[in-house]
Amino acid sequence: LAAGEALERLVRDVADFPEPGIVFKDITPLLADHVAFRTIVTALADAGRDADGRPVVDKVVGMEARGFILAAPVALALGVGFVPVRKAGKLPGETHAVAYALEYGEAVLEVHRDAIGVGERVLVIDDVLATGGTARATADLVAACGATVAAMAFLMELSFLPGRAAVGDVPMTTLAVV
Ligand code: 5GP
Repeated sequence: LAAGEALERLVRDVADFPEPGIVFKDITPLLADHVAFRTIVTALADAGRDADGRPVVDKVVGMEARGFILAAPVALALGVGFVPVRKAGKLPGETHAVAYALEYGEAVLEVHRDAIGVGERVLVIDDVLATGGTARATADLVAACGATVAAMAFLMELSFLPGRAAVGDVPMTTLAVV
């Protein structure tokens, strides 16, 4: 089962969630199928390897909450540490914080200051790239730690939104454009 096929078969479109007019990509059927789950984790982890298959990143960062589910097994597959980026007020230690615009209002993401070392190379993982606001804010948090975003990888990129442009000049892998 190829990653694209797994996504096509096992990601469910849910109309009018979380609000009227939004078609939500529900990845829970994919997660419930361990063969498909392993396939997409392996494919995402490839974004953190060189052509010979060697890991080229020091950390894998995942964004709350679905990003955690994907980034943690990707980190183990690569043999590097996992770092959570969380919504404001959830991390107990000293943090860097970045505010970013939502459709209505603003949100804040945080990372522990000591979670990513100066000069480290980071792979950023999330399920869906939509407007790119979450990915952009996460890249800013990595930069605030003095580290570099080596690559970003997503299961799906929404074709009707300018997520890729919003993130800027970072190597980006998406397993499917939907
Ligand atoms: P963005 O910041 O790019 O607009 O939105 C991306 C964030 O919102 C990601 O963290 C992603 O998990 C979530 N998101 C936005 N739309 C969807 C969707 O249709 N399905 C899922 N699973 N997540 C979404």
